[in-house]
Amino acid sequence: MASILLGSIADDFTGATDLANNLVRAGMRVVQTVGVPDVALDESVDAVVVSLKSRTIAPEAAVRESLEALNWLKAQQARQIYFKYCSTFDSTDQGNIGPVTDALMDALDCDFTIAAPAFPDAARTVFQGHLFVGEALLNESGMQDHPLTPMHDPNLVRVLQRQTRQAVGLVSYRDVNDSAQAIQSRFAQLRKQGVGIAIADVVHNDDLLRLGQACQALPLVTGGSGLALGLPANFGIEPNHQSAQLPLAQGLRAVVSGSCSRATQSQVQHFIEQGGQAFAIDPLSVHDDPNALVEITAQAVDAAKRGLVLVYSTTTPQQLSDVQQQLGVQQAGALMEQSLAQVACALVRAGVGQLIVAGGETSGAVVQALQISQLRIGAQIDAGVPWCFGHAGRPSSAQPLHISLKSGNFGGVDFFTRAFEVLSA
Ligand code: ADP
Repeated sequence: MASILLGSIADDFTGATDLANNLVRAGMRVVQTVGVPDVALDESVDAVVVSLKSRTIAPEAAVRESLEALNWLKAQQARQIYFKYCSTFDSTDQGNIGPVTDALMDALDCDFTIAAPAFPDAARTVFQGHLFVGEALLNESGMQDHPLTPMHDPNLVRVLQRQTRQAVGLVSYRDVNDSAQAIQSRFAQLRKQGVGIAIADVVHNDDLLRLGQACQALPLVTGGSGLALGLPANFGIEPNHQSAQLPLAQGLRAVVSGSCSRATQSQVQHFIEQGGQAFAIDPLSVHDDPNALVEITAQAVDAAKRGLVLVYSTTTPQQLSDVQQQLGVQQAGALMEQSLAQVACALVRAGVGQLIVAGGETSGAVVQALQISQLRIGAQIDAGVPWCFGHAGRPSSAQPLHISLKSGNFGGVDFFTRAFEVLSA
């Protein structure tokens, strides 16, 4: 069995893809798994990102799942562990960043790690321990109104201290801006003071490279996806074209969109205006008549044989809220996720081998319905959205599939057509 260099545990699916994408850009060959794998890897790679759905579940469950992932990664002989969470530090006073970090430190017998959520390229910076989103402090960025993890305190030293048994300290910008050696001296100083976790200031993307270098000897690092840019070099890996290489794409092409975010609305509209074959799914029709979905699916499958096809439930905020009032928010969401997942399965059965899914939750539902358990990460189409390669269906009848999972607000207006050009280039 080939060993891996970097083993990552991500607390949600699209965050895992974001991390995997950064590792590929920095030169690593990466597989992302859906949950903790129960089978061996399909191929030998440098890094594995295990994606969990542990961001907002009960802390005990998050700890249990993260330790299961850790055990699997240790069995693959991972040399360093990376706990990935959101760049806006999404968590509550109960967790889950603190409790999961504590548990991983215990399991790895590790007395010091860093917490580095910043990713300046994505406008997330940390200065004197305070997290900024663009020019706004975290607690004035909209994150204070998040439905599950409202962030009312921008000082991450304080935020993390409320969640962890470890003493929390700060590696301030003075050291991060200086050199990897200065950062390591600060690590040593904090360690002597009994600090277990250090928040790291990061203002420019270059800071992540120095910080990554300074983390070479740490058994565990924690942070957002940005920290990934500085780690592969510690293993002698540099950016290269091979890391993103996937098998040749084959089969029919389709897009399935359940995202109602602004960027996706423009992408759907643009696709239709350009004369693309598009089929809308109306939640109320599908709710009232199960045959409606069967009919649209049949039409879409037929159209896919002629060329690229889009099936979408993407709609305007006004229509969305009307439907949500009639069916309920959860019910309408679940109905569309299941409907689009069903359509995706039918398209793949009919020979679609290149599939884009728009929407974070929608992607989760589609990947689950397609029974995809591992994805090799390929080239980036637009910032944060790569093509991936995996197998759909049971192992006995697995079908090769190129798939791109686009969360709501990602991608340019012509994403649905340009993505396929990137794939065949
Ligand atoms: P995003 O990444 O843009 O947030 P998601 O897929 O995560 O997209 O979330 C969109 C949610 O909206 C999903 O639960 C989806 O099923 C639901 N949805 C999509 N279209 C409709 C619609 N026409 N009416 C009601 N809910 C919808």
